[in-house]
Amino acid sequence: MSVVGFDFGNESCIVAVARQRGIDVVLNDESKRETPAIVCFGEKQRFIGTAGAASSMMNPKNSISQIKRLIGRQFSDPELQRDIKSLPFNVTEGPDGYPLIHARYLGEMRTFTPTQVLGMVFSNLKSIAEQNLKAAVVDCCIGIPVYFTELQRRAVLDAATIAGLHPLRLIHETTATALAYGIYKTDLPENDQLNVAFVDIGHASMQVCIAGFKKGQLKILAHSFDRSLGGRDFDEVLFHHFSAKFKEEYKIDVSQNARACLRLRAACEKLKKVLSANPEAPLNIECLMDEKDVRGFIKREEFEQISAPILQCVKAPLEKALADAGLAVGDVHMVEVVGSASRIPSILKILTEFFGKEPRRTMNASECVGRGCALQCAILSPTFKVREFQVNESFPFPISLSWKGSVPDAQNGGAEQEQLVFPKGNPIPSVKAVTFHKTSTFSVDVQYSDVSDLQAPAKISTYTIGPFPTLRSEKPKLKVKVRLNLHGIVSVDSATLLEEEEAEVPVSKELAKEDAKMETDEKPNDTSAPGANETDVNMQDAKGTAEAAGVENGVPQSGDKPVQMETDTKVEAPKKKVKKTNVPVAELVYGAMLSGDLQKAVEKEFEMALQDRVMEETKDKKNAVEAYVYDMRNKLCDKYHDFVTASDKEELMAKLQETEDWLYEDGEDETKGVYIAKLEELKKQGDPIEERYKEYSERGTIIDQLAYCI
Ligand code: ATP
Ligand code: MG
Repeated sequence: MSVVGFDFGNESCIVAVARQRGIDVVLNDESKRETPAIVCFGEKQRFIGTAGAASSMMNPKNSISQIKRLIGRQFSDPELQRDIKSLPFNVTEGPDGYPLIHARYLGEMRTFTPTQVLGMVFSNLKSIAEQNLKAAVVDCCIGIPVYFTELQRRAVLDAATIAGLHPLRLIHETTATALAYGIYKTDLPENDQLNVAFVDIGHASMQVCIAGFKKGQLKILAHSFDRSLGGRDFDEVLFHHFSAKFKEEYKIDVSQNARACLRLRAACEKLKKVLSANPEAPLNIECLMDEKDVRGFIKREEFEQISAPILQCVKAPLEKALADAGLAVGDVHMVEVVGSASRIPSILKILTEFFGKEPRRTMNASECVGRGCALQCAILSPTFKVREFQVNESFPFPISLSWKGSVPDAQNGGAEQEQLVFPKGNPIPSVKAVTFHKTSTFSVDVQYSDVSDLQAPAKISTYTIGPFPTLRSEKPKLKVKVRLNLHGIVSVDSATLLEEEEAEVPVSKELAKEDAKMETDEKPNDTSAPGANETDVNMQDAKGTAEAAGVENGVPQSGDKPVQMETDTKVEAPKKKVKKTNVPVAELVYGAMLSGDLQKAVEKEFEMALQDRVMEETKDKKNAVEAYVYDMRNKLCDKYHDFVTASDKEELMAKLQETEDWLYEDGEDETKGVYIAKLEELKKQGDPIEERYKEYSERGTIIDQLAYCI
């Protein structure tokens, strides 16, 4: 079984595979370690990755990039609105309020969801891994930004399903980096803790994590981020600077021309990179627009001045990470920078000033996430033996449950109750059991308790729990299991009706065993790992709380009440016998793909991949005809000369010429079958000549060998 890690960036992706001797970043078809995250839709097929990047300049409107920014976001999301302004392709609002990407494919305009497009990117990465490993790739780990919402995480999983992948874990990119950093360290302290801050500044976002390392383990102390601070912001500053300049100097408005925009942006990105290593840099573009060549120039100082508003934002995530980790600057022993945008010297200066020490670049800035993903996959995969190393991950968002209480309130018939289930920084994975007192079917919403860090609606999903019989007990207890799984996705797993039976019996061994069984049963599936911390949270609806707390006027309790943890008191005898019944749970995740649609997307991807394959094979067959023409023509004049009659040669030469002309005219765009037939037709005449030559040379070899023996 394969063990693979994928880092999909806004710009480029890395595929890393685990082998017995270590982790390797594998090369794509162009022998490059980084594969662009681009899908270019063509008239006959798609071009993905390196092929996509090659086609994108020719066909910008149908070249889809920056998919990581689009997935799992509502169309109305202000960040998405800002992003799509600078994209060369068209994005509109779909009927469900989510973005739809428009592209011309197979001769007509079509729409694709960002999840579908990400599925295409994953298919490409999968095939890169497969070509390298010479084996099918299914199990993998995929890196995601820590700030990804529930919906974005689900979208990545759906995209993986579309590509035929099965992620064992979606791992936060900075955690993957921390893992890649720590697992090879042989000098980690046994008792002390080594605190390392990882700062990743990529193309579109910045992430910080502070990890505490001990021998054999790492613990994430804090995550922080700025979703919209990355290398591309610097490109954008340069882009605006030069487009204003060119408007004045050359009277051209690049914003009116998609191709000119794309070329200027690409030139600005290059310029930015040059400025990382040089104090000044030129910008020259031939024939940018209206047949005008443009020239520009900028000094690093001026670049730093115009990008001051962006540079000012770098400090906030650093401060937040420190505060959340409860550390002072001096407690951070080391700072590691990764992400290619961190090469900008002024960013490095800010980091140095903030931490009071020079950040280090021990890690390979562009490959560490991919390597960490492959390592995590190896740790989770049963087929691989890896050094014992525990990753104690923390979840960046507080999650609560909310539901309508049964005590009527004047306006909405049932007061809204809210209870924090997973506080910010909760370990991943984690399972909590929540007890409700309800008499009939009810629903609970899973929501973010605090959306200030998020660009997402608070409500994530709704679970309807029931129906359930309530014959024996007046106030039945419902134990609802809420899981925060390894991917950082929250769901209600199951609901159990607990009814106390009449007779009071001492707790028997049997019962205790049964309780324990129920809890362990939950743990070792593939999205949960050993160490999932399971806690019971006792929740009552408004009525129950009022009764339990003895509140007389029945005023509903707000969600701020402290979480009541059920401790191990349940094994204390005597106890009533409890009957357990599973209760159905129906899930509704807002904005997620329905399973029917996902199945359709899988089929669609299969069709498109087949079309790509047919086109690739067609190209191969066409190339084979062309190659045969050139090869045969040369050989007829050279080594086959003595093995063909003059008239046969003349006839075949004419046929070859005719075929060559055909390839550039009528036969330029034929089907695979036609090229196969054409090659066979030529070979019918060519093969006998080839045979004669072969026979002769073999005979020659035998004679030579005989002569040698004698
Ligand atoms: P993200 O992490 O946002 O998902 P990503 O992983 O694709 O995206 P990286 O590859 O880490 O991003 O970084 C890409 C960014 O780094 C681009 O904006 C690129 O222009 C910038 N970059 C690359 N090399 C340099 C350099 N030498 N100097 C400055 N910026 C650079
Ligand atoms: Mg990155």
